[in-house]
Amino acid sequence: MTDPFDQTLLPVGLRDLDLAVIAAEFGTPLFVYDEDHLRARCREYVTQFGEGRVAYAGKAFLCTAMVRLIAEEGLHLDVATGGELHVALRAGFPVERLVFHGNNKSDAELEAARDSGVGRVVADSFDELDRLERVGFAGEVLVRVTPGVEAHTHEFIQTGTDDSKFGFTVSTGAAAEAVARVVASPALRFGGIHAHIGSQVFRLDSYAKAAGVVGAFADECERATGVDIPLVNLGGGLGARYLHSDSDPSVTEYAAALRTGVGDRPIMVEPGRSIAAAAAVTLYRVGTVKAIPGGRTYVAVDGGMSDNPRPVLYGAGYEAYLADRPDAPRALAAAVAGKHCEQGDVIVPDAHLPADVTVGDLLVTPVTGAYGYSMASNYNKVPRPAVVFVRDGQARVVIRRESLDDLLRLDA
Ligand SMILES: *Cc1c(COP(=O)(O)O)cnc(C)c1O
Repeated sequence: MTDPFDQTLLPVGLRDLDLAVIAAEFGTPLFVYDEDHLRARCREYVTQFGEGRVAYAGKAFLCTAMVRLIAEEGLHLDVATGGELHVALRAGFPVERLVFHGNNKSDAELEAARDSGVGRVVADSFDELDRLERVGFAGEVLVRVTPGVEAHTHEFIQTGTDDSKFGFTVSTGAAAEAVARVVASPALRFGGIHAHIGSQVFRLDSYAKAAGVVGAFADECERATGVDIPLVNLGGGLGARYLHSDSDPSVTEYAAALRTGVGDRPIMVEPGRSIAAAAAVTLYRVGTVKAIPGGRTYVAVDGGMSDNPRPVLYGAGYEAYLADRPDAPRALAAAVAGKHCEQGDVIVPDAHLPADVTVGDLLVTPVTGAYGYSMASNYNKVPRPAVVFVRDGQARVVIRRESLDDLLRLDA
């Protein structure tokens, strides 16, 4: 496979940008986001699902600038921990548009949700329903159900099957019991039902099937309780195109697949990856090139599993190309490795790169905008990269690069 890099994997706003200039100004490794791409994806979702019916899943990528962008685009925002809530609140996100998730929310987190006026909590367990009553959460409470659907994705990011730590199981009757309990509770306001089957899902039939189970479950709850289900939140998970060979369904196709299952009921969705992933690229500097006679060539870059753990965690695949010759044939089969002290620290095990790749080249991995920076660590005491947003060809720092002294900030 010697095909040149396919530029359609890049967001439009980064296609004509001189990434070498950006790297010279901000250093490497660096996350570079096309701000217009983020906004365009938000708008596509709002067009398909309606105002107030789309929540961005903050865990995909969250910082003050991102929170503000999401607020400006009129979306709701999912947070799943007290930490994500704190970032959202400090950035001034409208609290009534916050949705609080998590399978093990603490009393302190639920109290913070109550005190700040969070609009919705998605309840995950009977223990949590006890806590919500005790804490006196005044917003809406949705019941998260597991519809028993396999999502055709990696098992670690598959959440809708019966054997899951998340939610109330539909098939055992636990979900119906939870809905009945919230509806009957004098202390709680019932906000609807929620299901999220997993992440990086390409198969629309998985969605249609899950939506069908949730739709039938909603009918059953209405019959049993005599109360209308005000909202069906179908989670997120729409896949992103990482590789030339991937093909991701459009938001329009995704919306149609969901609708077939739940009929006329109001639907809400919570995209994370499909808003943020394709908006960004990571820039790395090549530091060493090691050709093993009769074996692979290792091209090592100045980042690795600390800025992108997905290849190690899920065996996730990426494309790679060289910034100054994107159209060059990629004849060399290479492993793009990181700089960490682990043999497994590989970003792209089966990359194709121009045969003349050399020390000092600027290497780009596209589609790193989701679950990259948000999963970054300081392993090996590597400072986390900076993040820039580009708009109209102008880049601005939205997360500064960690300094060496930042690495000592918490030492007592
Ligand atoms: C992670 C998550 C999402 C977003 O998933 P993506 O694959 O990033 O779209 C939405 N809802 C819930 C409850 C989640 O846990």
